Amino acid sequence: MSQGAHVFAGGGLDRESERRRDPAWVEARLADPTSRFLALWHLQILVRSGEASGLAWATSALRELADREADAVLLGTNGGTAHFALDLSPLADPLAALGLEGAAEFADLRAIAPRLPAQEAGIAAQARSLVDWHARHRFCAACGERTEARQGATLRFCRDCKSEHFPRTDPVAIALVTRGERCLLGRQAGWPARMFSSLAGFVEPGETLEEAVRREVMEESGVRVGRVRYHSSQPWPFPSSLMLGCLAEAESEEIRIDAGEIEEARWFERETVRRALAAPDPARDALLLPPPLAIAHHLVRAWAES
Ligand SMILES: [Zn+2]
Repeated sequence: MSQGAHVFAGGGLDRESERRRDPAWVEARLADPTSRFLALWHLQILVRSGEASGLAWATSALRELADREADAVLLGTNGGTAHFALDLSPLADPLAALGLEGAAEFADLRAIAPRLPAQEAGIAAQARSLVDWHARHRFCAACGERTEARQGATLRFCRDCKSEHFPRTDPVAIALVTRGERCLLGRQAGWPARMFSSLAGFVEPGETLEEAVRREVMEESGVRVGRVRYHSSQPWPFPSSLMLGCLAEAESEEIRIDAGEIEEARWFERETVRRALAAPDPARDALLLPPPLAIAHHLVRAWAES
């Protein structure tokens, strides 16, 4: 799969990792009337209301509404125009404050993403992850003092102990495990009835991606995995994961699930999976797969159509 094909991939802004080190350059972009600001409110994204969904960009005037301590987060530039994200969570009713009632709304990114242009979904993912990270990292993990945003709020700095803190991305191994004409899918309690997906878990410190796949699949299903091939990756901004999609070959078949992790795991025939991909089947026992928003959908499709 080519890069940019997953939802939340392909934001495409130039992150300006050199120029953002210059406070004067950042200040000039913040004051520039052509710069664009994306408002977030409790991690919801401001989008235009109506049929043609899109991000509702504001000018730097948005900063006058925000809390004085809210740092505009530099997302990058596009054709020379700077793009920032700004957290309006302290406001009780930001739509009224913006005068945008009826014209725009704050939307849950997971719900709205499939209707956004691909590049905007990617930019919104970057904005959501960064705004969430800032909200949780106001204090230094080394000494406990208050930290301050630096370099266009692309990092936080502790004046007290001089530590720099960088936004984190958490790698998640997600694998479609196959054996001949069958693939292994699992489901968690609380998912829609009949929905199954590929197995996934966080990569732990000191582990390769391949080792994480083998460990997770063994823990969740009791199935032993041999060869692991990387397929593609997807930013997953809930809050800050990077899904690392793999195709993995099983070396055993017996399933022993860990009930603490998943509710059920099962082998599915390739033909069953193909039917589930082709059209949702109302039959009571038919398989349901995750929607195209999820990388799991594309891993299953890659195998089913190979
Ligand atoms: Zn410190």
